[in-house]
Amino acid sequence: MSILVINAGSSSVKFGLFRFDDLQPVARGLLDWAGNSRQATITLQPTEGDAICVHRDVHDYRGGVIAALEMLSQGNLVGLNTPIRVVGHRLIHGGEEIRGPVWIDEAMKRTIARFAHLAPLHIPAGLEAIAATEAALGGVPLIGLFDTAFFADIPPCAYLYPVPYQWYEDWGIRRYGFHGTSHAYCTQRAAEMLDRSVKELKLVICHLGQGGSATAVCGGVAITNTMGFTPLEGFMMGSRSGTIDPGILIHVQRERGLTVDQLDHILHNESGLLGISGVSSDFRQVEAAAASGHRRAQLALDVYVYRVRAMVGALAVTLGGLDALVFSGGIGENSAWLRAEVCKGIECLGAHLDPRHNAQCQPDADVAAHDSPARILVIHTREDLMIARQCRRMMEES
Ligand code: ADP
Repeated sequence: MSILVINAGSSSVKFGLFRFDDLQPVARGLLDWAGNSRQATITLQPTEGDAICVHRDVHDYRGGVIAALEMLSQGNLVGLNTPIRVVGHRLIHGGEEIRGPVWIDEAMKRTIARFAHLAPLHIPAGLEAIAATEAALGGVPLIGLFDTAFFADIPPCAYLYPVPYQWYEDWGIRRYGFHGTSHAYCTQRAAEMLDRSVKELKLVICHLGQGGSATAVCGGVAITNTMGFTPLEGFMMGSRSGTIDPGILIHVQRERGLTVDQLDHILHNESGLLGISGVSSDFRQVEAAAASGHRRAQLALDVYVYRVRAMVGALAVTLGGLDALVFSGGIGENSAWLRAEVCKGIECLGAHLDPRHNAQCQPDADVAAHDSPARILVIHTREDLMIARQCRRMMEES
């Protein structure tokens, strides 16, 4: 029996299959439209065996999930002898109400639909994926796991914006936090690696991928996350600006005549590493350009590092100390240069990097100097495994 994990994103569907008994991965897959709204590429990578890649006419998320299920069944990965016992759907936004994993029934679908205005690219995709699994898998239980749930205990002083209070009451404008599944996984994994109870740890976790955010975690509870009302706040990202002076937005609308849609596009797609470097939104490519002497690529990396370092410092102060700094996500896990640069200056928090360990590290690893009071961990994030774990726990407790 297996657990199917589905993550319907803004332009792709990722899926993973795990054995129910021991949570070993059976296969993972990706359905990607890559700019073509009619034809999708579906790649299936079984844990044992070769990858399969097909192109299919798929027009929506519902069709995408059904095509993915067909591939799993044609590859004999699911079927009569290997049924799916439960499906975990990753959903990006659960508003203020949802504080943990939930069973998905008709009432819950209506609740989820109410959050669509908070995540207009993701929630409708998630609901379509849910409908597809309902149609294709009959009575198999469905569980919803929400990225915002890990941040359910952020205190009002951290989540309220200093704008009219009515914006919060009427429109739900507050900080929510994102990447919760990754931050929750890294919290558990850090405690395991340090061989300490999560209850006694103060952690700053940096998830640095195409998007990026950091979370301050005290005793296993998230105190704040750098992303806010939307995943645009916080770190500078691949093509997203992260935090900027809101006065800039007023200025470019009033003085330069940019429309709301233009601004939306620029802040999401033409800013961040791409905006400053003019080279790419991909960290590796910007690193390569900087190494070959591209001045603006180097500038982009310098701004990126400066902002990560400053926010790590701010989060450590909100915690009143630091037991471990965690690097995760494609950039955090792979760029030794980034980690070394961010760690210059955080020695004052008791975190000292071992340069040799850092340069050679294979995640998961502790790259702090042996006498460093605070540890520096590099953790390969496993959002799909975290979801599978939570699904199994829900099933066992039901
Ligand atoms: P997503 O947020 O889409 O899941 P990832 O976590 O996979 O993204 O991170 C993608 C980012 O990681 C890209 O900017 C990519 O350049 C960067 N990255 C991947 N491998 C490396 C590497 N070896 N060195 C530096 N950056 C890397």
